[in-house]
Amino acid sequence: MTTSIVGYPRIGAKRELKFAIEKFFKKELSESELQEVAKAQRELNWQTQFKAGIDYIPSNDFSFYDTTLDTAFALNIVPERYQALGISPLEKYFAAARGHQSQAGDVKALAMKKWFNTNYHYMVPEFDDGTELKLDLTKLLSEYQEALALGIATKPVLIGPYTLLKLIRFTGKTTIDTVLTDFVAIYSDIFKALAEEKIEWLQLDEPALVFDLTDADITLFKSIYTPLLAGKQTVKVLLQTYFGDVRDIYSELIKLDVDGIGLDFVEGRKTAELVETYGFPTDKKLFAGVVNGKNIWRNNYEKTLDVLAKLPEKPLVISSSCSLQHVPYTVSAETDLSEDILKHFAFAQEKLQELKDINDIYYKRETDSLSVNKALFAQDRFEADATVQAKVAGLTDLDFTRTPEFSDRETIQKDVFNLPVLPTTTIGSFPQTADVRKNRLNFKRGDITKEAYDQFNEAKTKEWIDWQEAVGFDVLVHGEFERNDMVEYFGEKLSGYVFTKYAWVQSYGTRCVKPPIVWGDIARVQQLSVADSFYAQSLTDKPVKGMLTGPVTILNWSFPREDISLSDSTLQIALAIQEEVLDLEKNGIKIIQIDEAALREKLPLRQTDWNSEYLDWAIPAFRLVHAKVAPTTQIHTHMCYSEFTDIIPAIDAMDADVISFEASRSDLSILDALQENGFRTQTGPGVYDIHSPRIPPVEEIEAVIQKILAKVPVEKVWINPDCGLKTRGVAEVKASLENLVTATQEIRKGL
Ligand code: GLN
Ligand code: ZN
Repeated sequence: MTTSIVGYPRIGAKRELKFAIEKFFKKELSESELQEVAKAQRELNWQTQFKAGIDYIPSNDFSFYDTTLDTAFALNIVPERYQALGISPLEKYFAAARGHQSQAGDVKALAMKKWFNTNYHYMVPEFDDGTELKLDLTKLLSEYQEALALGIATKPVLIGPYTLLKLIRFTGKTTIDTVLTDFVAIYSDIFKALAEEKIEWLQLDEPALVFDLTDADITLFKSIYTPLLAGKQTVKVLLQTYFGDVRDIYSELIKLDVDGIGLDFVEGRKTAELVETYGFPTDKKLFAGVVNGKNIWRNNYEKTLDVLAKLPEKPLVISSSCSLQHVPYTVSAETDLSEDILKHFAFAQEKLQELKDINDIYYKRETDSLSVNKALFAQDRFEADATVQAKVAGLTDLDFTRTPEFSDRETIQKDVFNLPVLPTTTIGSFPQTADVRKNRLNFKRGDITKEAYDQFNEAKTKEWIDWQEAVGFDVLVHGEFERNDMVEYFGEKLSGYVFTKYAWVQSYGTRCVKPPIVWGDIARVQQLSVADSFYAQSLTDKPVKGMLTGPVTILNWSFPREDISLSDSTLQIALAIQEEVLDLEKNGIKIIQIDEAALREKLPLRQTDWNSEYLDWAIPAFRLVHAKVAPTTQIHTHMCYSEFTDIIPAIDAMDADVISFEASRSDLSILDALQENGFRTQTGPGVYDIHSPRIPPVEEIEAVIQKILAKVPVEKVWINPDCGLKTRGVAEVKASLENLVTATQEIRKGL
């Protein structure tokens, strides 16, 4: 038993699960039909891993929406508002995930946050004072039995108690301290239940251990695990960490009575050093995460073997650095790319083979796969672009500084735009309805001409520009009908990118993204957006926002190179976007929004690394994009799901004129922080949650605006939804936005 993975993608190689769930939402599929699809996907996953020779195959890594939500439901951490709906358990689960609006009731979804430093999102469990922990392991046990019926004894996975406690939002008087004993008790019951089922291994995921830990955190961890492990029974516990190293608690972890510890040797900069310094006990298995679960490049076997060579020889298990859910299914689906490119990629299925190869080289001195791998890394992968490299090398401070300074621009722009107080706008996209997607598909297939394709999109833009004017929006958008997503669309017009066909990765629930791959040096080879913005602006006297994606987000939502620094890659992209910004300006676009939806996402998990490893280059890269525009050009930016309470000064330092961001799903908690920091950038905290189909009533939006105005000076506030509307239906979008404008008009009257 020497190979393992932390988890596997679950959405389906062709997104089968996603489509089935969405059909279930639309009542086009029954619950039992949905269960059948799910079961087939699970079986396929297990069989694939089994055939690849993986020994520790995970189960319960499957989910209809999110595994943190699954763990919360298994422990009955389900707020009363969902319990009270009187709907089926699966519907109740989806109500917590996405909100619910029917005769049964009208409830908002749980908050959703980015999962550590990934683009996956988890549902934040809510613990209210009425919550009573109660164990329901039906899902975990039945999935275990399902695999067993195929002859595969799996290791079930759960979020561990420490990480779960850290992720939970306590809404009442209950605190971590008051529930601690109950938590220990219920996880003990889990051990008992698994022991009764004769399940050999349980994987408890504890990624929260890779943060900077305080003494109190370490005490908390010990006060959970010491009593818990004392009653462990026969089940073996794998304490699985990932997304970094556990330097603050390593010496304590190795003293625990667990049977295995999973460590991340890819993102964990200090992992190898920790093992070397403190050793690793022989009574436990070390699950060495050496195959990168987050990137798509082939593993360099020689380097990996060097890492393994320094570890205590036995008992060593070769593992992935984190769950493979963060990479796509399989390279073999990518029939449009040349073998010369594809041979450098390893997606989930290929990573299974890599684990096996590394295992065989390490344990059996197998040499064939090692020489093939060595040959691969000995080649030059692509041709470098000397011009771009020289431009990046020649950047000086001036290139990163916009003049005049913010407050002067603010005055100038108030004058130029003369917008009403509380200007209304949206984030950019309007619904990508079936006809919009069909038009794109027809064009891609060559069934319609470029002209016909553009005409259709222009008609859509016109329809929505007219609608925005009629409803009374102040700053309009063209609707983004020309783009499938916010990175691939631009990436296709940049050199240095490679695109895949099926390389989807789950982002949240049924939403998947297909990150393009940064293959080489990047430069703009054609205009990205000028024609669309120019056309939209020609239809109206109101300002229409130019709409671009920022360099940090483009990089964060791509699979980055591993042979140059993230900083250099980002600066190359920033120079390309800068050219586009200046082109938009030249073509009469007065407001340009540069989305940095994912800026927060790659913030290092350890605060001590924030500046040196990330912000010190990410924030200037954004400034580089807009530093050269005129003072009368207004620069907007937008961020998603951003818990950026703690990086507010850095966001001000992006030096945008206006920022909109997600706020409603995190209960507007950011407003206090804006106030405390004297945030100077004008700001539109989203007034309703677009990730749910629910239509926010006028009074509800008014209440949100009042809350905002209590904390942010009125002349700084913009009114907008949370995020782009491309995934929503037309009817709900129109109703919601009409309510938004009405609510704003009501509030204006009272000012
Ligand atoms: N402008 C983009 C849109 O509206 C922003 C999307 C995002 O923030 N994820 O779709
Ligand atoms: Zn967004």
